[in-house]
Amino acid sequence: MKNSGSRTGRISLVGLGPGDRIMTTPNALDIIRNCDVIVGYKGYVDQIADLISGQTLVSMELGEELDRANRTIELARTGRSVALVSSGDAGIYGMAGPLFTILADQGWDGVTPHVEVIPGVSALQSAASLLGSPLMQDFCAISLSDLLTPWEVITKRIKAASVGDFVIALYNPRSRARKDHILKAREILLADRAAETPVGLVKEAFRPDQSVLITTLGQLDASIDFVDMFTTVIIGNSTTYRYKDRMVTPRGYERKLNS
Ligand code: SAH
Repeated sequence: MKNSGSRTGRISLVGLGPGDRIMTTPNALDIIRNCDVIVGYKGYVDQIADLISGQTLVSMELGEELDRANRTIELARTGRSVALVSSGDAGIYGMAGPLFTILADQGWDGVTPHVEVIPGVSALQSAASLLGSPLMQDFCAISLSDLLTPWEVITKRIKAASVGDFVIALYNPRSRARKDHILKAREILLADRAAETPVGLVKEAFRPDQSVLITTLGQLDASIDFVDMFTTVIIGNSTTYRYKDRMVTPRGYERKLNS
C-alpha cells in the first residue's frame, strides 16, 4: 500500500475531464498517482493506464455504477485510499451520486471513510469552450436519459427551462434506445423559442474524433444523425446568435455601454 498513513480509508471521487490528458487537473492526477486502488469504468481506467505504478486497478463495465460504488466503499473500509474515477466532473451525472446515496443508506458517520470530490472539467464546459460563449447568461443542464429519471419529469424540466429562457446544455442526448428524445425536446422548445435559435452540437470534445457543428433549433432534425451519446448539445436562449463558427450569448455589457 502506498499511503500506509491513510488507515481510516479515503475515497476520492475523481473527475478526469472530457478526455485529453491536458484537461485533467493536476489535483486529479496527483490523487490517481498516489492512491492505493483505482476503481472505474473500464474505458476511463484505460485512459489513465500510463499513470499506474503499483496501484491496484478495479475496472468494471459500464452500467455497473452501484457495484463500482459498493466496491469502492468496501475497499476504503479496509483502510485503503481509493480513487473512484468518472469522466468530466464526478459530481455532474457522475459517480458522486451513487456513492453518497449508498453511504447515507449505510448510516455513514460522515468521517470514516473520508470522502472528497475532486472537481473535473464537465462536458458542458468543454462543449461551451469549443462553441465560443454560449453560457454567458443563466443556463441549466438537462439529461435526456430516462434510465433513472422518468420521461415526464424530463419533459416538465425542458418546458420550464424553455419558458425561463435558459440556455440549455443537454447531456445524454441520444442513444440507440432513445433516438427520438432530442426531437421531442426540440418540439417542446419550439413552442417558446424561435426556429433560428442557434444550437451547438459538440461530439467527443477534447478527444481525437472531436467534431463541432452549429445548426438551429428549426433545422436540428436535419443534423440528428450527428448526435450520439458522446455529444453535448447546447441550445441558445432568445439572445444567442451565431457569429462565424461561434455561438455568442451576449453578457449584457453592450446594453450598458449604449445607455
Ligand atoms: N460526468 C460527466 C457526464 C457524464 S453523462 C461530465 O461531467 O461531463 C455522459 C454524457 O456527458 C454524454 O452522453 C455526453 O452528453 C456528455 N459527454 C461526456 N464526455 C463528453 C465529451 N468528451 N464530449 C461531448 N460530450 C461529452
